[in-house]
Amino acid sequence: MPICEMCGKETAKVSRTKIEGGVIEACSKCASYGEVLPEPKKARPIPSFSVRVETLAFEDAVVLDYSKRVKVARERQKLDFKTLAAKMSVKEQLLHRIEQGRLVPDFQFARKIERALGIKLIEKVEEPL
Ligand SMILES: [Zn+2]
Repeated sequence: MPICEMCGKETAKVSRTKIEGGVIEACSKCASYGEVLPEPKKARPIPSFSVRVETLAFEDAVVLDYSKRVKVARERQKLDFKTLAAKMSVKEQLLHRIEQGRLVPDFQFARKIERALGIKLIEKVEEPL
């Protein structure tokens, strides 16, 4: 239980309260004597992807026909799903869904497929700013 810095009592919740020129953690009763400050905002890391979208006209994106490219490359190399999944250490089901076009791989996964099959799945596309 947090302890109120003003009255010293244990309380369910303390609020950062500006009181007599200082900021203390106060229970709801004591907080009413001062000015309750808003909770400090947690800094959220901005995904680097969205930052790049805002600053570049050309952006890497997973190609639209990714499912076809994966299927063609896999069949050309005579790899079955099981072998390819083992090679990439991913779930076989994921590869099925990608070839069926039911799952768009994220960049990390697309890069993994690119390396495993020696194909390109990520290309630069024009993004509106
Ligand atoms: Zn108190």
